[in-house]
Amino acid sequence: MLEELRAVVGDENVSDDAADRYVYGSDASMHQSSPSVVVRPVSAGEVQKILRFANGRKIPVVPRGAGTGESGSAVPIDGGIVLDLKRMDRILEVRPEDMFCRVEPGVVNDELNRQLKPYGFFFPPTPASGKVCTIGGMIANNASGMRAMKYGATRDAVLGLKVVLANGDLVTMGSATIIQASGYQLERLMVGSEGTLGVIVEATLRVRPLPEERTVGRAVFYELTQAGDAISKIVATGIVPSALELMDEVAIKSVNKALGAGLPEVEALILFECDGVKASFHHEIKKIKRILEECGAFDIVISDDPQEMEKLWEVRSSVFPATSMYKENRIRATLAEDVTAPVSRLRELVEGIHQIARDNDLLIGTYGHAGEGLIHTAFLVDPRLPDEWDRTRKAVDEVFALVRHLGGTTSGEHGIGISKAPYFKKERQDLLELMRGVKKVFDPNNILNPHKLMDAPEDFFTATKLRYPIKERR
Ligand SMILES: Cc1cc2nc3c(=O)[nH]c(=O)nc-3n(C[C@H](O)[C@H](O)[C@H](O)COP(=O)(O)OP(=O)(O)OC[C@H]3O[C@@H](n4cnc5c(N)ncnc54)[C@H](O)[C@@H]3O)c2cc1C
Repeated sequence: MLEELRAVVGDENVSDDAADRYVYGSDASMHQSSPSVVVRPVSAGEVQKILRFANGRKIPVVPRGAGTGESGSAVPIDGGIVLDLKRMDRILEVRPEDMFCRVEPGVVNDELNRQLKPYGFFFPPTPASGKVCTIGGMIANNASGMRAMKYGATRDAVLGLKVVLANGDLVTMGSATIIQASGYQLERLMVGSEGTLGVIVEATLRVRPLPEERTVGRAVFYELTQAGDAISKIVATGIVPSALELMDEVAIKSVNKALGAGLPEVEALILFECDGVKASFHHEIKKIKRILEECGAFDIVISDDPQEMEKLWEVRSSVFPATSMYKENRIRATLAEDVTAPVSRLRELVEGIHQIARDNDLLIGTYGHAGEGLIHTAFLVDPRLPDEWDRTRKAVDEVFALVRHLGGTTSGEHGIGISKAPYFKKERQDLLELMRGVKKVFDPNNILNPHKLMDAPEDFFTATKLRYPIKERR
């Protein structure tokens, strides 16, 4: 197998080295399962050859971008080949006059935005992992971020894709036009497919004009429920800020500790941003400020100073790593980490998660893209303590039950992978067989990222190793 793969991509781009296999056996989730080999193609042609080879021998292939997924979607649960697509990182074309760019899958989100800036355009999804995550991974996970409220998620920016199918065929889906009604929208089917249907080797993405001006605001609240109410009220007025984010006390204290951010340590903080032409969003900022005050906010800071705006957003995008520093001997378990509910139920969602934390004597931080109804949960636990770990698992079940009760969804942006599969199956019961049928058409030998989504194991805690010593303890 090694010889055949080396003949396709060259010796230096195939590795079965133990360290590589270990590193490529995990992503930003809790799971670990090493591949047999890591292969780094540089072109669609090489991807085609690798897939033909793997399909003929029924070897599992797991496409991989930067490995920042949080639900184990890039973890090779059945071993086989990890296809590292980061060498395919060319921006092939920027066409501002047609409002699109054409890129390879390994292009990093922030790098794409740096290249688009001189044209006066940007690629709107703004994941907090944008410094490293790739376009391929973003499409396969349907990533979104702080600006999805106004500009949509990755799915809304995908116009066309080139995809290598499991049998090695290269197909083109969608088009380079802003609208398209030519039959099945298969490029949309690829969005959120988590590497199970094909390997994306090129994407035509819709880009948007950079807003002329921006203003960012911050407000703090003594009570979390006041912040929840404020968010629902802002959304209900019909104002569409370009971002509306929530951070609770754990998130605030974490960034204070990690960055020395100096934020007031209250129960909740809201960050918001409006963009466009100041003359037109000026009255929206005023309206938002009034709602915040009515709901009990104080210490409201509003700024259009570029440095200050940068500082405010840095605070928000640092929460994920910062929570790991909140308390000694506690790790941040990536579980139920992007639950999403209709915005009008946001307060109930946040309150409910905090009640679940109290009932189970656990520490759970909550923050996220509240204007989209998305809440990140940071379970800060010591998995070596059997009792604490059992309470964590129970709390995760309860969080997902709450989300279903509120009419929400299992994952707002990180995807299903392994760790959310049991809950996804409950949510999508009526569609599982249909999805398995689709998978069979695209990948009859089940080589592409097998045992994920609807086919993931029921007990994911034992199906892979966990990166923390939970299994050993058991
Ligand atoms: C600190 C931190 C902050 C984050 N913040 C956000 C956020 O704000 N919003 C958000 O949406 N997500 C966020 N994430 C999650 C993650 O960054 C996104 O899901 C991202 O889109 C994953 O991209 P990646 O390149 O790392 O993909 P990977 O993790 O490598 O892969 C993700 C999935 O895509 C598949 N895949 C990768 N490339 C291809 C390809 N070319 N063809 C087919 N399938 C492919 C993989 O098989 C896998 O199933 C965050 C993660 C971290 C660690």
